[in-house]
Amino acid sequence: MSPDAPEPIAVFRARAARWMERHLPRWDDELMPTRALQNLLYDHGFAGIAFPTQYGGAGLTLEHQQAFVEETAVQDRQLPMENRVSIGMLGPTILDRGSEDTKERFLPSLLRGDSVWMQLLSEPQGGSDMAGSMTRLSRDGATFVLNGSKMWSSGALEADYGLCLCRSNWDVPKHRGLSMIAVPLKDTPGMSIQPTRSASGLVSDYCEEFFDDVVLPAGNLIGGENEGWAVAQTLLMHERNTVGNIGYGRLIGQRERGPKRMFGGEPAVSSAVAAHERGRLDAVGMMIVDAYIQSVVVPLTSARVMAGLRAGTHKGQWGSLTKLQSTVAAQASVRTALAAHGADGVIWEGDEVRVDNVGTTWLESRGGTIAGGTNEMQRNIISERLLGLPKEPAPDRDLPFSEVLRNTRRR
Ligand SMILES: Cc1cc2nc3c(=O)[nH]c(=O)nc-3n(C[C@H](O)[C@H](O)[C@H](O)COP(=O)(O)OP(=O)(O)OC[C@H]3O[C@@H](n4cnc5c(N)ncnc54)[C@H](O)[C@@H]3O)c2cc1C
Repeated sequence: MSPDAPEPIAVFRARAARWMERHLPRWDDELMPTRALQNLLYDHGFAGIAFPTQYGGAGLTLEHQQAFVEETAVQDRQLPMENRVSIGMLGPTILDRGSEDTKERFLPSLLRGDSVWMQLLSEPQGGSDMAGSMTRLSRDGATFVLNGSKMWSSGALEADYGLCLCRSNWDVPKHRGLSMIAVPLKDTPGMSIQPTRSASGLVSDYCEEFFDDVVLPAGNLIGGENEGWAVAQTLLMHERNTVGNIGYGRLIGQRERGPKRMFGGEPAVSSAVAAHERGRLDAVGMMIVDAYIQSVVVPLTSARVMAGLRAGTHKGQWGSLTKLQSTVAAQASVRTALAAHGADGVIWEGDEVRVDNVGTTWLESRGGTIAGGTNEMQRNIISERLLGLPKEPAPDRDLPFSEVLRNTRRR
């Protein structure tokens, strides 16, 4: 073994196992606050396992990260799940696309959990056509000025930074006039954030933001000026990976494979019992079996894609496939629980919306097939980039953005 070779996986795994036995609380213990949990991992060299050491990571590989996560599952140890967006998506994007300066400035505190990041991509006029962003970024000497609005931004109220896609040049085709810039979200003059309400009635953690002459240092650009589309593509790839639990986004252990993992927290057994009590087991029995099979197949697909990415046999946008499969399966399993529980699943006493209710879970599960690009968009990507089918027509692709008709008006 050369002195530079990474620690063998088995040795690392045994070291991680010993460490977590002593330091990492179990899921049954009192829940540790996310930031404290992330700090703990960082202080012991287990945050950003596949990130280079000069940016605060452990300098190991994605295989080591996978081994760590699997070991937490074996031991049923807590992980900072709320940080998946920061660690699985935004950090890797900065690592892939940021300048040396932005990597050094932003990554250590992100990995330590002292700064939490989220994404500012979608806008009120539409999220699928991200390249049609109308949020305006104008250069003013050594600074930029940001105007416009974003919406559906998960976690913006809690986060410290958002990565914002905006239009910096209106006179070139739409994909070529975009920039990505880091926006501080706490007490930023000219910016306001407000939460929105989700379909379930819960005040959700997705927000809308308004920017009114927000001044930002030019050094906050991630990627070059007008090179934001490539950065957005990288971010979306990491987002799909995180939803599909692969790549840098492999941050969830499979705690239990089987009934207890199904139905978004609603166990298959209780669904089967509920269906039996309502005399509906014959009708929903096959749905329960299908959902069970999916709960086994989805992690196996992720593992297979992970292995292919490592071996180099799978290249490109495989995260679209795992995201599509896992979110469709999650929705089907919640639908099954709803069918099993019937009306009992959607009623409760009192005025508070119950988060553990099957009906609420069903409403909330809808978001999974929209967030990070809708299922239709994932199917487009799979057909074009994995299967090599013809591209969707895009008549506005080569027109300067200022000439693209928007809502029958020109800018
Ligand atoms: C739970 C949740 C969390 C989210 N978090 C964030 C976040 O943190 N940051 C952020 O920026 N955004 C976030 N979003 C927004 C999300 O990215 C957008 O909702 C999504 O990209 C779709 O955009 P839209 O809602 O504007 O729908 P539209 O783009 O208006 O699409 C409407 C419908 O048309 C279909 N459609 C559009 N274009 C095509 C096409 N070319 N081919 C086929 N069908 C098409 C879509 O599939 C959809 O069914 C979140 C959304 C949800 C639900």
